[in-house]
Amino acid sequence: MTQRRARLGVMGGTFDPIHHGHLVAASEVAARFDLDEVVFVPTGAPSFKQDVPVTPAEHRYLMTVIATASNPRFTVSRVDIDRPGLTYTVDTLRDLAADRPDADLYFITGADAIAQLLSWKDSAELFERARFVAVTRPGHTLSVAGLPADRVSQWEIPALAISSTDVRARARDGKPVWYLVPDGVVQYIAKHGLYRGSQS
Ligand code: ATP
Ligand code: MG
Repeated sequence: MTQRRARLGVMGGTFDPIHHGHLVAASEVAARFDLDEVVFVPTGAPSFKQDVPVTPAEHRYLMTVIATASNPRFTVSRVDIDRPGLTYTVDTLRDLAADRPDADLYFITGADAIAQLLSWKDSAELFERARFVAVTRPGHTLSVAGLPADRVSQWEIPALAISSTDVRARARDGKPVWYLVPDGVVQYIAKHGLYRGSQS
């Protein structure tokens, strides 16, 4: 009898901060594709956010750990934050593949991120290393046209109109962020005074 290969979901993001949109995307794709685990990978220095201030990686990493701790199938990886230089997804997938040669990788993105995919570094290699699952996101049209059909799927998920940009703006303006992010993340933001002076 041949054993089924492990299926590892990969949820990449800046997670500044992590919110329920990220968690629902990971959970829905895990259920649809029968994933054994989803690893959340906070970026180091995101190559496409060089002109905007990003919260130090250690805060983003810890908030991601807090948000995912209660789910036995969710884990968090430091590969991107421990790698010097800008973060490119191709390096993420190379590192995870080296770490988990037993597993097929399923990279999870929202509709806005998948639209940029062909502009990512070494995009042809990305499709060799992982399957991509693009999920719906309010305010963005989901299209996978032009991407290799055998490696890219789309999946409709419950619409949560939440973005980290909006959570940061709310925290800066003293508005509530309860129920947009997990309770522990609300408390972490308050404890460390994150986003108080943020511009976005
Ligand atoms: P920012 O506003 O700072 O860009 P963000 O909310 O877009 O933050 P990211 O960390 O940039 O969060 O996104 C990580 C991944 O999660 C991306 O693939 C993005 O498309 C996806 N994503 C983020 N929010 C949602 C959401 N509400 N629904 C579905 N997918 C989402
Ligand atoms: Mg984003």
